[in-house]
Amino acid sequence: MRLKNYINGQWVESRSSQVLDVRNPATDEVLAEVPLSTIDEVGEAIKAARDGFEQWRQTPPLTRARYLFRLKDLLEERLEEISRLLVQEHGKTLAEARGEVRRGIENVEVASGIPSLMMGSNMEDIAKGIDCESIRQPIGVFCVIPPFNFPFMVPLWFVPYAIACGNTCIVKPSEQVPLSQNILFQTMHEAGFPRGVVNLVNGAKEAVDALLESDEVNGASFVGSSAVARYVYQKAAVHGKRAQCLGGAKNFLVVMPDADLDTAVDGIIGSAFGCAGERCLAGSIVLPVGDVYEALKAKLVQASSQIKVGNGLDERVDMGPVISRRHRDRVLGYIENGVEEGARLLLDGRKLDGDGLRNGWFVGPTIFDEVRPEMVIANEDIFGPVLGIIKVRDLDEALRIIDANPYGNATAIFTGSGKWAREFKYRVRCGMVGINVGVPAPMSFFTFTGWKGSFFGDLHAHGRDAIEFFTEKKVVTVRWV
Ligand code: NAD
Repeated sequence: MRLKNYINGQWVESRSSQVLDVRNPATDEVLAEVPLSTIDEVGEAIKAARDGFEQWRQTPPLTRARYLFRLKDLLEERLEEISRLLVQEHGKTLAEARGEVRRGIENVEVASGIPSLMMGSNMEDIAKGIDCESIRQPIGVFCVIPPFNFPFMVPLWFVPYAIACGNTCIVKPSEQVPLSQNILFQTMHEAGFPRGVVNLVNGAKEAVDALLESDEVNGASFVGSSAVARYVYQKAAVHGKRAQCLGGAKNFLVVMPDADLDTAVDGIIGSAFGCAGERCLAGSIVLPVGDVYEALKAKLVQASSQIKVGNGLDERVDMGPVISRRHRDRVLGYIENGVEEGARLLLDGRKLDGDGLRNGWFVGPTIFDEVRPEMVIANEDIFGPVLGIIKVRDLDEALRIIDANPYGNATAIFTGSGKWAREFKYRVRCGMVGINVGVPAPMSFFTFTGWKGSFFGDLHAHGRDAIEFFTEKKVVTVRWV
């Protein structure tokens, strides 16, 4: 099956001669072919979005919300179908895929509140007989450029808010995992959005560049690695667009001596090995404080060695493969680097055998002890199931290590003490903080607040920031004589 683009309310075959295979990472089976759309095709999508804008912005917010209600109902009906497809295109487990679809739908739910969310403010008598009002207006056309790791959910961090606010948009899915976006757009087609409101263009760098260089596109929402996030942010700025660019991560998990160890171990393992470590909120380094170190280490290794690796469609499996052969080799490269730099392997994910693992890109849970802050594995975004342990003396030392890291997406502390928790929350320079929670993922009605090298922009994804990002303010000062 060769995937189509969705432009101006219609499915259209791409004319591109460049095509990639979409492979199931658990079996290496080819699931579909994805075209890398040409600059002209991107231009057609931009034109459709631009042509659809005026009528859509004049559609009352309540009516716009009703399309989203319909979309939500249709997505609920297809939850299982989408989840199974996600497992096949991405490799995550069914439970993880269902969670992803649920989180995606929640953004549609929240954006359905647009009549309240988009209200402005006003004040009488700012001077004698003069009133003032501040209103929010849609801006125009937005593009959405997601990464491979949450193929269904990440576009929904942006699209529902963009269109609820009265903009039109174009999604360029990750070329590695375009299938669940194909279903999302089929569902949006069924929901009956007017022509040009939502458009899908398959492709890669060339398509992204065409979107960013177009004067007809007003803004960009990007999620991916920090190097590309920075590039997209800079290019968007050069071409006069607003941009929110979410980048990579290196997340540290602190365990205080007074932590409940079972809660900490569950939280750390779920964080480090959930979605095979391919989450921007994945815990990557554990910082045990003082004498909790030995007991924590033993429990972590014991629990991690029970994780069942395999094809995510099997409900007994806890962890699926990583996305591709190339990415598997990259993760294995980091493990080799850790060994060369002198970290001690407590659990070696390279040693995997078992039925059904031969054709896929599997890496088992891997734990390194005696990691030092200056090592490569302590600093870089590995994006695989590799966890390092750096023993620290006290909370100050833990905070210094976290602070020195260029990323600032998420972090967590495990403790029984409100005092430690408050101090950590107050001082740590990261945007998303868990207290006895290993994956502190904000729900859709809060914002997704990466800091430092994990984010380029001012207004973050979903929550209130989304309404700010997808609207422009206009202030009207009124005197009637
Ligand atoms: P990536 O940067 O390789 O690709 C992301 C998107 O950018 C894709 O759609 C891709 O087609 C496009 N792209 C890739 N190279 C490009 C280039 N040179 N020019 C223009 N466009 C380009 O990221 P990925 O490997 O798909 O995703 C994994 C990364 O995403 C990890 O670093 C992870 O931490 C990050 N991530 C961050 C968050 C967050 O919220 N901060 C969430 C999920 C994933």
